[in-house]
Amino acid sequence: MKYTAPRGTKDILPDDSSIWQVVENVCRAVFGLYNYQEIRTPIFEPTELFARSIGDSTDIVKKEMYTFADRKGRSLTLRPEATAAVVRAGLENNLISTDNLTKLYYIGPMFRYERPQAGRQRQFNQAGIEAFGSNDPLLDAEVIQMAVKLFETLGLKELEVDVNSVGCKKCRPVYLEALKKYFQENIKHMCEDCKARFETNPLRILDCKEEPCQKYIAKAPAMVDHLDPECKDHFEKVVGWLGGLGVKFKINDRLVRGLDYYTKTAFEVVSKRLGAQNAVCGGGRYDDLVEELGGKPTPAIGFAIGLERLIEVLKSENKQQGMGHRIDLFIATIGDEARKVGFDLLTKARISGVRADTDYLGKSLKAQMKAADRLKAHYVYIIGEEELKKKSAMLKNMETADQKEVPFDQLFKDTGCDCGDDCKCSCEDDGCCD
Ligand SMILES: [Zn+2]
Ligand SMILES: [Zn+2]
Repeated sequence: MKYTAPRGTKDILPDDSSIWQVVENVCRAVFGLYNYQEIRTPIFEPTELFARSIGDSTDIVKKEMYTFADRKGRSLTLRPEATAAVVRAGLENNLISTDNLTKLYYIGPMFRYERPQAGRQRQFNQAGIEAFGSNDPLLDAEVIQMAVKLFETLGLKELEVDVNSVGCKKCRPVYLEALKKYFQENIKHMCEDCKARFETNPLRILDCKEEPCQKYIAKAPAMVDHLDPECKDHFEKVVGWLGGLGVKFKINDRLVRGLDYYTKTAFEVVSKRLGAQNAVCGGGRYDDLVEELGGKPTPAIGFAIGLERLIEVLKSENKQQGMGHRIDLFIATIGDEARKVGFDLLTKARISGVRADTDYLGKSLKAQMKAADRLKAHYVYIIGEEELKKKSAMLKNMETADQKEVPFDQLFKDTGCDCGDDCKCSCEDDGCCD
């Protein structure tokens, strides 16, 4: 019997996990710069929470949720996204109020039963933010700026920011009528999904990627032309602030998001590397959701980044280089006595913050050097019989192949101060690795 990972899931192996750590660290760092704090919510929630917030007519709720009954017959769902859970947790723990701005972020796995394909899995990871308590258009622009800043920090280029307004519960119904009227004649030529959307939520027709539907979608009326004065003013201010903050963007009046709760601002960051369907980040305002989930009316905005896709883009741009796992020092030894001394030095290395390893398989010196190479060690320190007598050994720089003799008791001073840009040791304390 051979076991395999369930369809639509993937093991993140050591070769890749270092990239994941870099990406997650950059997320935490950038969110932290904008004063967002982490929240960790359960992986599953009551089914009703998602049905209520995401919308009964959405693909997610209709087809994609992992829903199960627990032993007491309660209906639970593995979270397909985090916003509803963050709102639930925020309300339950009194984090959300209308007098203060609450800024939260999360990183973790989400679950949707979709057809697996490149960059799309059934268990996938998102990093995202939610800000509660303000409808200030500057906040919308700041949130978009933060997303861009995050991608820039990771070194991504060829990004496009698309912005739209999807209106509010006052002006959207008027627009939906206009859309229905427009699609009425042609819906028979469009795909099955669009026919269903025509009945349940015509806005989602704009999201269709099927070729036969495109020519009809292209000429459909635009939400931005149907915004009421309040939404129009808000959108103009968001666009104004984005310009003011120097964020490059384009207004895309076909942009709608796959969840029902969005109001006013909707946006996506798309990587041109992955093609049109491949937003690496999507988000928007959801001013009614907190109230719908039992809180006081509280405006809010958020976004989520698909980490699998983001990492795919990083790889396609070769930005993962230098993100791999490395060690600073490999101690190679010949003979039992050298091994004792070597292990003592290894312990000291770790105490001084030097990432270090040695051989545990009784390999020959040649094989130990190969192992050090495979571990991408910056340095190898080689201890044999001669070296034991001198209490001194050769320290070899694996990149330059330079060698120099370093006494046992000087080793960490030397590795500490020579290791340059990639320094992982604790010698920053005295400023020698600035
Ligand atoms: Zn409106
Ligand atoms: Zn269609």
